[in-house]
Amino acid sequence: MSLLSANGLTKIYDHHTAVNDVSFQFGAGKCIALIGPNGAGKTTTLRMLSGLIKPTSGTIHYAAKKKNADIRGLIGYLPQHPVFFKWMSGKEFLMYAGRLAHLSKEEAHKRSEQLLDRVGLSDAANKKIGKYSGGMKQRLGIAQALIHQPKLLMLDEPVSSLDPIGRREILTLLEELKQEITVLFSTHILSDADEVSDELLLLHEGSIVESGSMSDLREKYQTAKIELGFE
Ligand code: ATP
Repeated sequence: MSLLSANGLTKIYDHHTAVNDVSFQFGAGKCIALIGPNGAGKTTTLRMLSGLIKPTSGTIHYAAKKKNADIRGLIGYLPQHPVFFKWMSGKEFLMYAGRLAHLSKEEAHKRSEQLLDRVGLSDAANKKIGKYSGGMKQRLGIAQALIHQPKLLMLDEPVSSLDPIGRREILTLLEELKQEITVLFSTHILSDADEVSDELLLLHEGSIVESGSMSDLREKYQTAKIELGFE
């Protein structure tokens, strides 16, 4: 059974179609990469899936959603440009996120400690975020996205702004996390998608042009690479 299915998702801004009739589904326990060049519609698709914006048309179905429940409880979302309060320590930031997610003080404390350990930031727990490297900030952002124990972790371009060390840290973390939670992430870099995802959705000018595993798509991708200009 699918964890998530999207049917005919379309987003039109004024007269510009950012996402056009996108349909896909995937089951729990998968790691899916949404890949496409700048402006392909990745962020718009993720924002619709996470409930941040409404589709102009189309439907999204989450199997785990209970009647009248807010889908945001099921999703941990890390935006492309997350906001961090640099004067807070990593621990304070997670406590704050936990309290916003309606955890009790004790739960927020316990969950923050677990997550700092999970993303390899225990030693930097009391360090100000302003002193964190880009990779450390992204790891903290992933911890924040996981604070309420979602079913699906959704990450928008989690490695695109990082140096090679930070990029490697996040790809390794995703490789580990996908054993524990379903992951959907966007990227414009094929090698990143290839490295950690089980399935790819290739988005171009708002439409899905290919989908499947890397081995399914390898041959087709040679053409797509030239036509779509991915890295
Ligand atoms: P990038 O990696 O550059 O963020 P993307 O694949 O995430 O690209 P989107 O940000 O989803 O693409 O944008 C898809 C298209 O929709 C682009 O042409 C963009 O300019 C347009 N768009 C996105 N958000 C808005 C908005 N709020 N208002 C108007 N147009 C928008």
